[in-house]
Amino acid sequence: MLVPGPYTTSDKTRAFHHNTFVADLHADPLLWGRDLLERHARGHVDLPRLLDGGVDLQVFSVVTKVPRSRKYDNNRSDTDTLPLLFLASWRSPATWFNPKERALIQADEMHRLVEQSSLSLVLRRGDLSNDGLKGLLSLEGMHALGGREDALMELYSAGFRMMGLVHQFDNEVAGSAHGIDKYGLTEFGRSLIPRMEALGITIDLAHASPAAVEDVLGLATKPVVVSHGGVQGTCPGPRNLSDAQLRSIAENGGVVGIGYWKVAICDASLNGIVAAILYVIKVAGIDHVGLGSDFDGNVAAPFDTTGLPLLTGSLLAAGLSGEDVGKILGGNVKRLLGCRNRKFAKLDTKWFTFACKLTPNPSRQAGSKLSARNAQAGLGQERY
Ligand SMILES: [Zn+2]
Repeated sequence: MLVPGPYTTSDKTRAFHHNTFVADLHADPLLWGRDLLERHARGHVDLPRLLDGGVDLQVFSVVTKVPRSRKYDNNRSDTDTLPLLFLASWRSPATWFNPKERALIQADEMHRLVEQSSLSLVLRRGDLSNDGLKGLLSLEGMHALGGREDALMELYSAGFRMMGLVHQFDNEVAGSAHGIDKYGLTEFGRSLIPRMEALGITIDLAHASPAAVEDVLGLATKPVVVSHGGVQGTCPGPRNLSDAQLRSIAENGGVVGIGYWKVAICDASLNGIVAAILYVIKVAGIDHVGLGSDFDGNVAAPFDTTGLPLLTGSLLAAGLSGEDVGKILGGNVKRLLGCRNRKFAKLDTKWFTFACKLTPNPSRQAGSKLSARNAQAGLGQERY
């Protein structure tokens, strides 16, 4: 249950929180057509509330299709509840029945937000060091490509730098944990992985079937994220990660964003969030956990984004060091997005940063073939 703010924490905790890089790997405020420049009483995220919550980087995920049943373990892909929402929020008729157009219009809305506010968009790894609040666009489910490889470039050009392979149903790229067949990567999906890595698009395995998680981890040469979810160790369920999956993600150098809602953590409270984070630390290590709120994702959370200092207080109260809490709040996400060389994943933070600075990011070379097209799209070469 959402306890409305303002939330009170000690001055010390608040100061620590606001001096720490805070990143949230997943929230859906763009979907609803709310004016995010304004502070709202409903929902969890808008720009004034992100600033109050001390957030440095918010991943804005873009939802493009939601099946009618929304079951957790066997959704078909042939129903779609979003036409009404896109119509009711006065978006162009092109978006009413077309997932890719829904993605593009939400990206447009994000660009408009950036023009009208102090929010900046992360398109290259250097953008992570911009001052103030930053946003990164992520696609929730690659069904929006409609099975077409050229749509990947189109979405990249629109600013998407993270993509979840699947959402609540199996698609042309991979099987979903909530789908009917729950298959692994398709041939098309296999062909996309190196393309995404070359472009610097972070792969998100949230919602992916266990077979798809395994396939991607076998192929990936860059760290992945599981942007929002939970772990079987504290909350069994079809979309939560097993210990073996957690260890494989650690091996890949990836980061798991812990969600704040019931299906992710069973106990949707500060205690429940902290328990899931501590479990990931126990199984995968301190370098592989982060925050993945799923704010505005049609879920009940115990606080909105202004309540994040409460979580910082609970993590410190659980006995974690300031350095470790910094990694959880955003340090791990910053490392992953700022340096994508998997070879360094095992180094500790200091050596990792040093090695990253010395070594050119391989994605630059791998992506060089695409440089002409990127120049056309007005995008720089310094990808992450
Ligand atoms: Zn989701």
